[in-house]
Amino acid sequence: MTTRTDRIPPAPRPRLSLGLVGTVRSRLGAAPRDDLADPASLETWLAAQGLATGPAPDEVDVREFRSLREAAYRLLEAVTGGGPPRPADLKLVNRHATAPAPAVELADTPGAGLVLRTGRPTPEQALGVIARDLADLLTGARRDRLRQCGAEVCGTFFLDGSRAGTRRWCSSGTCGNRVRVAQHRAG
Ligand SMILES: [Zn+2]
Repeated sequence: MTTRTDRIPPAPRPRLSLGLVGTVRSRLGAAPRDDLADPASLETWLAAQGLATGPAPDEVDVREFRSLREAAYRLLEAVTGGGPPRPADLKLVNRHATAPAPAVELADTPGAGLVLRTGRPTPEQALGVIARDLADLLTGARRDRLRQCGAEVCGTFFLDGSRAGTRRWCSSGTCGNRVRVAQHRAG
């Protein structure tokens, strides 16, 4: 455990496990793009999630994060109507979910009073944080709001926060627009 600390961000973040699944772009298209292609891109992604690790991720970690991502994708498919979950995927998620949580420290700071600081997680602990988020997502109160994006090549999953529960695209600014343009051209 390193001694470097970062403030816990006050605002709720998007679900980490859905973010991980979304690191494959155009998953169902002819040329999917992987945002976690190497240790440097994994490091960048982790930092953007508030999960910068110590030590920095290596090639083995890249494989571990990608394995968890693919298990998450298949489990999301399963719970949204794609059949029973694969035991191997459950085993993988459960293995990561047992990783200890990143250390936290209550500190008295001049001006701000008591703050909660979190130590940098190891890559294994970061996998644990994401695996536990996934387990919670797949079994939580909003699991019936999980959707696969309706855009042809996208394939990612999102939580439908619309009142009517009729959202079809992961991001109406990108996938939704693309679909509307394609429909307009076809019509
Ligand atoms: Zn999409």
